[in-house]
Amino acid sequence: MNKKRLGVFKFASCDGCQLSLLSCEDELIELAGMIEIVHFLEASSRVDPGPFDVALIEGSITTEKDAQRIREIRHQSKTLVTIGACATAGGIQALRNWADHEEFIASVYAHPEYIETLSTSTPIADHVAVDFELRGCPIDRHQLLEVLAALIADRSPRTPRHSVCIE
Ligand code: SF4
Repeated sequence: MNKKRLGVFKFASCDGCQLSLLSCEDELIELAGMIEIVHFLEASSRVDPGPFDVALIEGSITTEKDAQRIREIRHQSKTLVTIGACATAGGIQALRNWADHEEFIASVYAHPEYIETLSTSTPIADHVAVDFELRGCPIDRHQLLEVLAALIADRSPRTPRHSVCIE
């Protein structure tokens, strides 16, 4: 059986959903015979340009560069899964969508002229086709493992697509 090539990518986010994946250490070892993590900057310096069987995406789109980057990742990925409220709904950073983002930038940064950002924070699905959304803030690690196991077995994940509030 060929191992599935897994890439994990971060956009605007706090890293908490990626940490959920890292906390699955023991289970990931069990899956090691079936998946190969080829791109996961949070955990490894390996940078693989793709293609990927599965791409896990954390975070929202807040810059033009990231809008371009997610299109490139989509192009390289057979299955693209968004993980967490930032990726699926825009996250807390989407508060800017209903405010004057220039005013926000000026009140936070000493040199706002160096900040390049979009006026909105948008979910990944606003930019590219998404195959599966795993919601929550952070995501539930057991649901994440179920999604990975399902994708390895070429079946549909048995997890809710609706928001899960943990804590
Ligand atoms: Fe962090 Fe929550 Fe966004 Fe996940 S969904 S990256 S835990 S803020």
